[in-house]
Amino acid sequence: MADCIFCRIASGEIPAQVVGRTPDVLAFRDLNPQAPVHVLVIPVRHHAAARDATGTEGERLLGRLLAFAAETAASLGLDEGGYRIVTNTGRDGGQSVDHLHLHLLGGRALGWPPG
Ligand code: AMP
Repeated sequence: MADCIFCRIASGEIPAQVVGRTPDVLAFRDLNPQAPVHVLVIPVRHHAAARDATGTEGERLLGRLLAFAAETAASLGLDEGGYRIVTNTGRDGGQSVDHLHLHLLGGRALGWPPG
């Protein structure tokens, strides 16, 4: 989508600090990090949010994103200390970019529950 910032990052039109990439998934550092490691994992193809990832294709996509986030965590040295993977969905979830993304957070002890 032309007006989607994460589509524009995925296409290379907008620069980002990429930490992992496959033809279908991209991982890049969050511009406003909330932890020493804060990476966003997105599908290259536009999907608005987790609630839109339905059916068999949605299952495959969400599994793919989660597995890639875990691989990225390992590659960034987070396995020993641990980390958190979350996806914000819709208004109450605090989603500000309408392109499905997982937040991978680590590098410090994270509080629970989130605010
Ligand atoms: P959410 O609020 O869950 O939709 O998360 C969107 C995230 O995207 C926020 O943590 C922002 O800091 C991050 N963000 C927005 N624009 C960019 C950008 N151009 N590059 C990297 N991260 C971004």
